[in-house]
Amino acid sequence: MRADIGVIGGSGFYSLLDDAEEITLTTPYGPPSDVVTVGRIGSRSVAFIPRHGRDHRFPPHRIPYRANLWALRSLGVRQVLAPSAVGSLKAEHGPGTIVVPDQIVDRTSGRVQTYYDMGGAVHVSFADPYCPSGRAVAVSYARAGEWNTVDGGTLVVIEGPRFSSRAESRWFAANGWTIVGMTGFPESILARELALCYTSLSLVTDLDAGVEAGEGVTHDEVLAFFARNVARMRTLVADTVKALPEERTCPCGSTLDGIKLPFDLP
Ligand SMILES: [Zn+2]
Repeated sequence: MRADIGVIGGSGFYSLLDDAEEITLTTPYGPPSDVVTVGRIGSRSVAFIPRHGRDHRFPPHRIPYRANLWALRSLGVRQVLAPSAVGSLKAEHGPGTIVVPDQIVDRTSGRVQTYYDMGGAVHVSFADPYCPSGRAVAVSYARAGEWNTVDGGTLVVIEGPRFSSRAESRWFAANGWTIVGMTGFPESILARELALCYTSLSLVTDLDAGVEAGEGVTHDEVLAFFARNVARMRTLVADTVKALPEERTCPCGSTLDGIKLPFDLP
């Protein structure tokens, strides 16, 4: 089984492909979050992993991020879409907004964030963490689907599993950052280290605690909001999958050019 495009579904997004084949994989980093389903959307072959497992057994800080990206690459995947639920740091980007971020701030701690931790130093560029081609397609289909769409913005990734305090949230907002989540890192850097394209489709489910109108949030509220929007999200992901370029012209695939790797990539 091979796939060109990988989708890593977030909270509330546990399935994507009907009539798909299930593959149980393991990797040098252990098994991924769940069985991988491989099927087709239009003419594209797609591999889907539910980020937290289908039963949501992995909290954000325990997700096997390295295994998930490695598994996708080993199936042939070179472009990854990452739908996820986020809180908004700006009152004008309320629930139901789709943000396609172009920058990221890492506020996690203690998560393994590299494949290259022995056998020589490998320093990849992360100046622009997201795929420009994938972002452009996602933005255009979010707009076409009549989502309130934000093209660009900064995702701050917190360690979790707790939500932010009001002071933390106000600090993030004061820095001009746009949305807050718990899984966008190290997923994005691990994708980059494997020379994969990576595009985040971040669905705002709530206003974060430091935004004036925000009351704070519970996990049940996040899941309930996502459940009401999951059919629309599936449509957006499917539209984006179908429109991703077949040949990559973005810089993502040449990330590792000229770098001596300590092992071969799958
Ligand atoms: Zn790319």
